Amino acid sequence: MGSPLSHRRLRVRFLVPALALGLVVWSWVPLWAGALPGAAPAVVLTTGSVAPVSSPASGVTQVAVASTPGDDTQNWKSFETAVKLLSDSETGRKLLARVEKSFNLSLSSTPPPTPEQLDVLFKWDFVSRTDAVLTRHFDPKSGLEERNREVSVHLKRDQPLVDLVYDLAHELTHAVAGPNWDPYDPGLTASGYIWTALEGPGGEVDAVVSECRVARELAGGDLVGRCLRYVRNAKIDREKVREDFYRIGDWVTTLRKRLGSEAVKFPLLSELPPRLYSSTGSAPYPVSLLREYDEITAVACDNSRRRYAAASRGPASESDQAWESTREFLQNRCKRTR
Ligand SMILES: [Zn+2]
Repeated sequence: MGSPLSHRRLRVRFLVPALALGLVVWSWVPLWAGALPGAAPAVVLTTGSVAPVSSPASGVTQVAVASTPGDDTQNWKSFETAVKLLSDSETGRKLLARVEKSFNLSLSSTPPPTPEQLDVLFKWDFVSRTDAVLTRHFDPKSGLEERNREVSVHLKRDQPLVDLVYDLAHELTHAVAGPNWDPYDPGLTASGYIWTALEGPGGEVDAVVSECRVARELAGGDLVGRCLRYVRNAKIDREKVREDFYRIGDWVTTLRKRLGSEAVKFPLLSELPPRLYSSTGSAPYPVSLLREYDEITAVACDNSRRRYAAASRGPASESDQAWESTREFLQNRCKRTR
């Protein structure tokens, strides 16, 4: 089995329609809050990634931190050191500049930001991942829909400093990328979803390339660990990273069958033994992403059906365009799920 990597994924939560300030506010309630009466399930984007590196790159001091969940004092100290190390690499500096621009948060300022300031974007967690929570607001009067996107970067707590540096590079690459797809897009297909999650701007390929560039820049010629495989002529070979994401072993037959004619979009799909697995470790990325696509489609379809039903009952009417889009979505994407 290859190195475990968690993946871009959508987490299912519940959508609760509520009246507030004259708007029908579609607020997100975590799945663990339980099913609420009348709540329509919805989807929230989560771009996850964790990249444990089996061996530390030399040039980065390996420091094991020890703190218990709830007390992240040591983790915040490690974070500060990790940011300093990140800023020692060219790729890391560019990433930090993009974070400042995207989130108005300077990580390498003097004095450094406090944990309270950092907590707006960063959370300590059991695995590293990046969440992007989409919230839809619908104004029944204007028929217009507004969408908000809130990003949070979760970092695995208590991990060696070197791994934290690489995780940070990986997750920040996801975090600074804008939304690449819309779960309610009538034209979104399984192949489009898989391709975007892997190869789109800020996708998994970009994140691994970014992480390995940081590793190489910090370690120079002494790079060890899983990124070593991707070094070619002293650079990180993006093509090699791409190839690894498409090595899916015995899953190739099933995936090709499901994708049908769209399988031609993935010329790199191969039955070579997988090297990169999703966080569950149960399947390589394209396979996990297909499952996720089915999961989010089922939830988005339920949502759209409820929205359609609710809108036709109430006094509010959506704009022709919104109705058309919902109709098209239900027609194009919801035949497989009921
Ligand atoms: Zn990732």
